[in-house]
Amino acid sequence: MPVKPTIIRLIMKLRQKGITDRNVLAAIERIPRELFVPTSFYDQAYEDIALPIGNGQTISQPTVVAFMTQKLEPDIKSKVLEIGTGCGYQAAVLSRLFRRVYTIERYRNLLRAAEKRFIKLRLNNIIPLWADGNQGWPDQAPFDRIILTAGTPSVPNVLFEQLSENGILIAPVGYTSANQKLVLYKKNGQNISAEKLWAVRFVPVVSGTVSDTVSSN
Ligand code: SAH
Repeated sequence: MPVKPTIIRLIMKLRQKGITDRNVLAAIERIPRELFVPTSFYDQAYEDIALPIGNGQTISQPTVVAFMTQKLEPDIKSKVLEIGTGCGYQAAVLSRLFRRVYTIERYRNLLRAAEKRFIKLRLNNIIPLWADGNQGWPDQAPFDRIILTAGTPSVPNVLFEQLSENGILIAPVGYTSANQKLVLYKKNGQNISAEKLWAVRFVPVVSGTVSDTVSSN
């Protein structure tokens, strides 16, 4: 399939923003973002902006997806847990860089739509779960990497417990979306270091699950 000029423009933008990992850039280039946004936003699919995906949720900005992915230090032998599947775009990008991607979403309708996309794109190494991601995924732990794609006042302890030794966790941390920063945590035995990175605006982590609702977008 020929690469669309709009994707090439996006890749150039990502490079300008400091995304240097070639595998990450290649993964973004190969995942058709237009399949993850509502049809009314097709023409903006390769702009570097967040877009609505229904249920008041958003698909993240490509530079943020790429940056978080790069900071996770992708490793094809590793398994990664994502909290907040949303439309599935971040999971799709991760699926090209990790052995297995476990992804949890609290809205059942969003998860179902994401699953259909994974099947269509034959991304067979993504395992989706309809659940409250605040609990992590005890049955599948430990994870080499964990990524939260919804903002949280603080990362639940249980997620650190489910992180492998030498694991990496990245999350948008802050009480309000106006006051959020990506924080990169690295586990080293019993010690966990934290490094603040970019200011970001993610929708909040909310507890509990939501069964089928009518999508508002
Ligand atoms: N990763 C997505 C962006 C997700 S937006 C992408 O690639 O575009 C954040 C998502 O987190 C929303 O879909 C929201 O419903 C979900 N979410 C919020 N709280 C959650 C929780 N406790 N458990 C699981 N998912 C949650």
